[in-house]
Amino acid sequence: MSAISLPPESYLNAFFFFLFGLAFGSFLNVCIYRLPRGMSLMPSSACPNCGSGIKPYDNVPVFGWLFLRGRCRNCKRPISPRYVVVELLTGVLFVVSFLTFGLSAEAIKYCVFSFLIVGLIFTDADLKLLPDAMTLPGMGLGLLFSLFITISGAAWVGNHAAGFLDALPFELRWRAASFLAAVLGAAFGSFTIWGIGELYKLVRGVEGMGFGDVKLMAMVGAFLGVKLTLLTLLLGSMLGSIAGMFALLSVLAKRLKRYRASSKGRRKAWTSAQLVLRRYEMPFGVFLGSMALFSSYFGERIMNWYLGFYQ
Ligand SMILES: [Zn+2]
Repeated sequence: MSAISLPPESYLNAFFFFLFGLAFGSFLNVCIYRLPRGMSLMPSSACPNCGSGIKPYDNVPVFGWLFLRGRCRNCKRPISPRYVVVELLTGVLFVVSFLTFGLSAEAIKYCVFSFLIVGLIFTDADLKLLPDAMTLPGMGLGLLFSLFITISGAAWVGNHAAGFLDALPFELRWRAASFLAAVLGAAFGSFTIWGIGELYKLVRGVEGMGFGDVKLMAMVGAFLGVKLTLLTLLLGSMLGSIAGMFALLSVLAKRLKRYRASSKGRRKAWTSAQLVLRRYEMPFGVFLGSMALFSSYFGERIMNWYLGFYQ
């Protein structure tokens, strides 16, 4: 990204993308709080503590929070800085979409994708939930976008389903190929994560992956196609393993300190750490979601660089 060489109007566009991101991030905060709790998105924002409505002038993204010094105007209870983080993150991702894909329908598609993924990352981190109210419409949107923007894998489908596609009117061929590639991506993502979940259950003896993760990966597949979904799964599993290792080591370190260094104590610490880890629930949605975002903006470059070694 060579931001230095941007023409002046691009800075203005980037700024507008940022403002839109902040506004959508503000709405996303409402979704993150209400959707997993089965609450309606209407009426507008209210303080989660005292329930008093938030005044429109206090509801301005980021500035409202800063102006109130992170406290509710009515009950003075602190409002989590997470609200600001979600707004800024959405704003930044909207700008990244613009810088990566220009002023295009594709940029809009990735804004929508970022919006959904940030929402899911935070509901998973918060409540270990990936609400159907986000993943299912998300999958639908991914499939819908594929009719207007060719996704990766469409060319492959075009080659392998030529007989079927040739029967269609010319204008519909690329759309059908792209749509099939999105369906293939959704199927690949959901079946693979389901398989990984079964494997995880076999190895650890506990349920690690929920059906929410399966629907999340169906959505990711519909937006990104097979190739980038595979990258998401690889990076997500890697991140999950690293996080699991850190969790084990940190518990082990604490237990070792408690039981001192006798060999009997060490064995006890190890058993205890394993027990704690068994109960530790991995936020897989957080890992998969963040790696899906990473893949959508940097995936193509990474894949090309990696595949370059084999040419
Ligand atoms: Zn309040």
